[in-house]
Parts: sequence; structure tokens; C-alpha cells
Amino acid sequence: MLHNIVLMGPPGAGKGTLAKQLKTAYNLTHISTGDMFREAIKEGTELGKLAKSYLDSGNLVPDEVTIGLVKERLAKPDCESGFLLDGFPRTLGQAKALKELSKEINRPVEVVVNLDCDNDELVRRISGRRVCKNCGAPYHIESMKPKVEGVCDLCGGPLYQRKDDNEEALKVRLHHYVVDTKPLLDFYEEEGLLKNFNSLQGSQHLFDEVSAFLKK
Ligand code: ADP
Ligand code: ZN
Repeated sequence: MLHNIVLMGPPGAGKGTLAKQLKTAYNLTHISTGDMFREAIKEGTELGKLAKSYLDSGNLVPDEVTIGLVKERLAKPDCESGFLLDGFPRTLGQAKALKELSKEINRPVEVVVNLDCDNDELVRRISGRRVCKNCGAPYHIESMKPKVEGVCDLCGGPLYQRKDDNEEALKVRLHHYVVDTKPLLDFYEEEGLLKNFNSLQGSQHLFDEVSAFLKK
């Protein structure tokens, strides 16, 4: 089984949903830089104050900040049994830093799971997305409803719409995806780590397909 995993794909491709499924099934440590920033904003820490305007507008938090955050997180003991990076790396600088620091701690990335999705579907998913304020679990108002409206199935927390899940910020996020993040696919292809999956299939099929690959 592969344990040190990077999840990639445009916003709305389903990284967060897949990450939650993989984490539950295989006891991997889920590291979502987006969740970490949102947590810091909620708590009003220095990091949160710095990150807020970037997140709200859909722009990327500067590399030195993000890389430092992930470096600290990956060094924690709960990553020893495997990590699932979700939303990092997003720039070539971050990918190169990850290569170095995962070597340093002896936990090299074993596979990059890339989720392909078409643009119309991304917009549909993001505009109907709701997220648990408490645990970050993702829902959709039509296709992934919680059992009780507005309430998280997993922890009972309230669901809300992310501030960057609006048309304007989504445009900025998609732009950064194309310009900053998509080039990483070539980088990881050359490293022999890239594995593509179609995220238009339902989330259960996708999970089964990714699981089968990780277990090979
Ligand atoms: P999504 O994949 O749906 O766009 P995320 O929750 O992964 O959302 O990220 C939300 C926001 O957090 C990004 O738009 C960006 O502002 C910030 N962020 C998350 N990860 C990174 C990263 N690796 N580098 C820079 N900024 C990041
Ligand atoms: Zn929850």
C-alpha cells in the first residue's frame, strides 16, 4: 500500500471528499493547507491575519508562509504512518521544497493522485458546496446532502458556504490553478509519480478506483 500521497486537481475536483474517505479507510493523516489556513483565520492567530485576504480573494498565500507551515506539520509523529497532502503543493516552488523536505524526514512522496474534472462541473460543485464549520467535511446542496439540512453528518457541526465559493473568487482560483498549479503535472510526470483519475465518476467509484491503485 502506498502511504505518502499528494492529492492534486482544480478547486471543486473533489480532493477534500476523497481525502476524508481515504483517511477514514486507511488511517492516513490528512493535511489540508486550506483547512489549516481557515482554522487559523477562525482562531485569529498571526497566521490567520496574514492569510485572510489571500483566501477571501482566491489568491495564493505566499510560498514561504505555506512551505513553513507544511514543513512543521510533516515533522509531527502522526505523519509517520502516512500522509495525505491536500492542496499542497500548488506552485513549482512548493513542489521543489516538498521534494527536499520529504527527503530530509525520510518520507518521500510515493504517488501524486491527480483528479481531472471539466470546467462546468467545477462551477456547479463549488457554487452548491457547503462545508462543516467544525470539521471541514464537504457537502453539496443537491448531490451530497447531509442527513439533516445544515448539519454535519460526521460531527453535528453547522454547515456554511465558504467565503471564496463565489463567482468572483472562483475565477481567481481557477486562474491560479491554470497558471501556477497545472505546470506541476509535468513536474510530477517527469518524476514518475503522476497518476490521473477521472473525478466525473461518482465519489464512491472514484474512491474504489484510487483505493485499488494504492493497494497494488
Ligand atoms: P480549493 O482547492 O477548493 O480551492 P483549498 O481549501 O485547498 O480550496 O484552499 C483555499 C485557499 O487557501 C486557496 O485559495 C489559497 O488562498 C489558500 N491555500 C491553500 N493551499 C495553499 C497553498 N498550497 N499555497 C498557497 N495558498 C494556499
Ligand atoms: Zn463536521
